[in-house]
Amino acid sequence: MQNKAETAIGVDVGGTRIRVARISADCRMLDRVIEPVRQDRAGFVAQLLRLINDLRDNACAVGIGIPGRVHGHSKNILSAGYLDIGDLDLAHEVSQGTGLPVRVENDATMALIAEGRSRPDCSAGLVFMVTIGTGIGGAALLDGAPWYGGGLAGQFGHIVVSADGEACKCGRRGCVETFSSGTALGRLIAEAGLPADLRAEALLARAEAGERHAQSLLADWAAPLQRALQSLVSVADPKLILVGGGLGREMTAALAGIPDESHWFRVPVDAARLGDTAGVIGAGLAALDLPDKREARVP
Ligand SMILES: [Zn+2]
Repeated sequence: MQNKAETAIGVDVGGTRIRVARISADCRMLDRVIEPVRQDRAGFVAQLLRLINDLRDNACAVGIGIPGRVHGHSKNILSAGYLDIGDLDLAHEVSQGTGLPVRVENDATMALIAEGRSRPDCSAGLVFMVTIGTGIGGAALLDGAPWYGGGLAGQFGHIVVSADGEACKCGRRGCVETFSSGTALGRLIAEAGLPADLRAEALLARAEAGERHAQSLLADWAAPLQRALQSLVSVADPKLILVGGGLGREMTAALAGIPDESHWFRVPVDAARLGDTAGVIGAGLAALDLPDKREARVP
């Protein structure tokens, strides 16, 4: 049972930054802090405990979204991108250090939990999400609840779109993450001879103003994702695919500008509404769903 006085700490661990916030049961973000994330194991755990304890107030649980492979059923962290926390029992460490129950999930799952609670079209049926950031994350929601398949479903960044593409950290070549992530956009901008500090937002503004070069660069960035999403539709036919993460708005606009390769696989794309804050909000909401959360001290 949730009541409105309940709050939980949400943590969104990104490739470069960590966000921590106290989240209310009605989806509001109360206190929050953002810092560069420590990438070494001991430093990361110490940073996490410090930030949670600084913000905890009357929070009754902690949710942590990790940018990597988290087994949906066991909650084991199998890998976490640039962070050296694979195989770390993070829930145990944080629970020991805070006295609070802890829920760990993949970061895209946390973002989709938040989006799912904030829009009625996600409460029934199959909904997917892709998050466009340093890499590409993915998650699935079935009838309003996270769906993990055998435990690791939703790794949509690793749909292969070109057999002779760049090597990917998963061991294969040509995964869509190597073409359509924020990292890939940075590479396209550099290859086009544009300023390295050109932001995706500014690039989109140039494209919307009719600048051909910017339009074709964004199309090159988005077309592999379009191909991957069509493959997803061919497999599972979701009712909706949300595009979120730090570059979700730019990617949604870029996808709208490219023609379908096939009319068989219409991709029901929509921009995530909570933007880059979805991950931290969803982490707090996921924690509030824990059955063993501590009783909130209602004033
Ligand atoms: Zn891959």
